[in-house]
Amino acid sequence: IPRNPPPTLHQPELWSDDFNDFICKCLIKDFELRPNVLDLLHHVFIKQIVGREKILQKQLIELIDLNQQIGVIEKTSHMKTQTDAEEVDDLATLEVLDEVVNSELQSRYGRDQIYTYVGDILIAVNPFHKMEIYTPQDTKMYIGAKRTANPPHIFAVADIAYQSMVSYNADQCVVISGESGAGKTESAHLLVQQLTVLGKANNRTLQEKILLVNSLVEAFGNACTVINDNSSRFGKYLEMKFTCGGTVVGAQISEYLLEKSRVIHQAIGERNFHIFYYIYAGLADRKKLAHYKLSDSKTPKYLCNEHIKLGPDIVSNTFYKEQFDAVEQCFKVIGFTLEELGSVYSTLAAILNSGDIEFSPVASEHQTDKSNISNISVLENVASLLCIRSDELQEALTSHCVVARGETIVRPNTVEKAVEVRDAMGKALYGRLFSWIVNRINALLRPDRFILCADDKGLNIGILDIFGFENFKKNSFEQLCINIANEQIQFYFNQHIFAWEQDEYLNEEVDARMIEYEDNRPLLDLFLQKPMGMLSLLDEESRFPQATDQTLVEKFEDNLKTKSFWRPKRVDLGFGIHHYAGKVIYNAAGFLAKNRETLPADIVLLLRSSENELIRKLVTHPLTKTGKVGHQPGEPGDTPSHPRETTNMRTQTVASYFRYSLMDLLSKMVAGQPHFVRCIKPNNDRHANKFDREKVLVQLRYTGILETAKIRRQGYSHRILFANFIKRYYILAFHAHEEPAVTPETCAAILEKAKLENWAMGKTKVFLKYYHIEHLNLMVQQA
Ligand code: ATP
Ligand code: MG
Repeated sequence: IPRNPPPTLHQPELWSDDFNDFICKCLIKDFELRPNVLDLLHHVFIKQIVGREKILQKQLIELIDLNQQIGVIEKTSHMKTQTDAEEVDDLATLEVLDEVVNSELQSRYGRDQIYTYVGDILIAVNPFHKMEIYTPQDTKMYIGAKRTANPPHIFAVADIAYQSMVSYNADQCVVISGESGAGKTESAHLLVQQLTVLGKANNRTLQEKILLVNSLVEAFGNACTVINDNSSRFGKYLEMKFTCGGTVVGAQISEYLLEKSRVIHQAIGERNFHIFYYIYAGLADRKKLAHYKLSDSKTPKYLCNEHIKLGPDIVSNTFYKEQFDAVEQCFKVIGFTLEELGSVYSTLAAILNSGDIEFSPVASEHQTDKSNISNISVLENVASLLCIRSDELQEALTSHCVVARGETIVRPNTVEKAVEVRDAMGKALYGRLFSWIVNRINALLRPDRFILCADDKGLNIGILDIFGFENFKKNSFEQLCINIANEQIQFYFNQHIFAWEQDEYLNEEVDARMIEYEDNRPLLDLFLQKPMGMLSLLDEESRFPQATDQTLVEKFEDNLKTKSFWRPKRVDLGFGIHHYAGKVIYNAAGFLAKNRETLPADIVLLLRSSENELIRKLVTHPLTKTGKVGHQPGEPGDTPSHPRETTNMRTQTVASYFRYSLMDLLSKMVAGQPHFVRCIKPNNDRHANKFDREKVLVQLRYTGILETAKIRRQGYSHRILFANFIKRYYILAFHAHEEPAVTPETCAAILEKAKLENWAMGKTKVFLKYYHIEHLNLMVQQA
């Protein structure tokens, strides 16, 4: 029910019950319709046309049809010009763009107004300090409110998504994008927070669980990087599940592309995943380090970086300790058992210990390439934590089996190879543990089928928080995958904002000024096309045992004939890509190994013999009961929902799994109506109140925000069929009893009579700007 209903709306004596019901339904159907419906009601009430229910009902139905057909958001503010001194909540109303948009964002930022609309897109500029705009009062203020009634806010996006879901009985999807540290994850949290309130989670525990999900997966999937102390090192698509009536009943997460290489190595100034530090400090605090075979005096190699001192930096770090308690609490509230928790800690401790296993070469008469484990006690610790036999672990690390002519032969591993196997085990265990946790959360938060009635299939709102575009000094395979994912998201954005709107102008033969935008389709083809796209070429090369990273770049060079790809001179194994967000130089060193990345069969078989149920599950059982593909992105290609057998090393590559999960993500996204949140990082120093104009302008440019503002301003946001237009507005140019012909001429007559300019006439529709509609509605009211 709207905030200021017309006074007579609540005087049932004036209206029949049915009619009163009908109006109420109209009003709650879609709050975005309310301004119009209310206008009309006001108009009718003011004129005291009481007792004409039927006519009013007809008018309302028409109005709703009309709104559904144009399907756009009403705006009440009029076009603003550059000289307007007042605030501009919606940049699409600005007359002059580029620097103006930037200035506007800057001055808003100076006033701590971090949110701004560009038409229906929300821009969020990271404040880098705590804001007092997420209080329970704010939550309330944005529930069911007209968009223009309050300042722009992330809660308003939650509200629009929620109201659209309920009104149109349709799934929704909020795409949050922006570079690392721009505020995507924070925005995702705020959306979930508001949605749990909107979803009237009548079950407090469920609400609490959903809110904790993010914190839990982020403890395992986020890490401190040079850019962001809490950088997401995986992509996350969180779907909140609702009944058709809009009550929240559960949540599901899909995770993409966890950066597992971080487990074994971190770049200078970066750290491993948070959870390793939390567990270290937490267990130290509980005097349980020894139980998990962890030392309080020697930093595990996987955590050794720069000058991190175990004592002050980890073991006695109170923040880490508190985080450990918080993570444990999350586990418990969500429903993990104590036994499961113990196994999770053992697995993490085993990974940390395994990094310290050292190998030395063994020189023998015939072979000089054998290796031996030089610190057996560490090996024993790892074996005990994984509940496997240490001699078998030693064998699996220092040798491998090959089948030749039906015979199984054991071959020794060189030190280099043994280190590779050890690290592969650490990465795989962590990746699989992460996937297992996500799946366990999904099982615990799966909407209870009984809550949904028989014909209620349920609805959902998905929130995509995916790692932003990356361009470091050295960019490897991980950056390539991350940037391809961003390229795909940008494509999806372009389709929605530009391509489909402009298609309609073409179909209707409307001479609208086409907005130039950077179509990144050729780039996507460069990466994803089969068989000559980059990922296919990589897969092809990965199948040749003799191939090297050098032959791979040469293959790229021979086959990728486009301006967007080049080989920089003097960069060994280097190749450049001109992404939508800028040029990136990649280094192909390690590409083939990373793409083939597999866990040797010997290790898999050994882990399957573990006495610890969790360890066995990680390498054996399907992690999901749904069997639905795409819910298991963790370890590329080796998750059980995937057709590949775990021990089969050659059939699936990281690249093909990546392509597959990207498609899976897209199919989820396109199933819903999209909402976009563009996060902007105002400076590289993470300083509050610092707005680096150049930095922001670059982001505005490459994300297409300036073009978006243009298309929202220059484009025709309202496209109405002639018949509907005439029905609604004929009164402005004709007598009430007249029935003018449904022709473009009639429409033009109405528009001319209303003294409107800059509209366009299509083949079947009138093309209007949003301020035209406001003007027309006002005139109808006064007629
Ligand atoms: P990445 O791609 O590295 O994961 P991100 O876009 O998810 O980056 P966040 O982790 O959400 O970035 O934000 C980085 C930091 O910026 C946060 O830790 C927080 O300090 C600050 N920040 C972001 N949004 C807000 C906000 N709305 N209010 C206050 N601080 C914020
Ligand atoms: Mg993040």
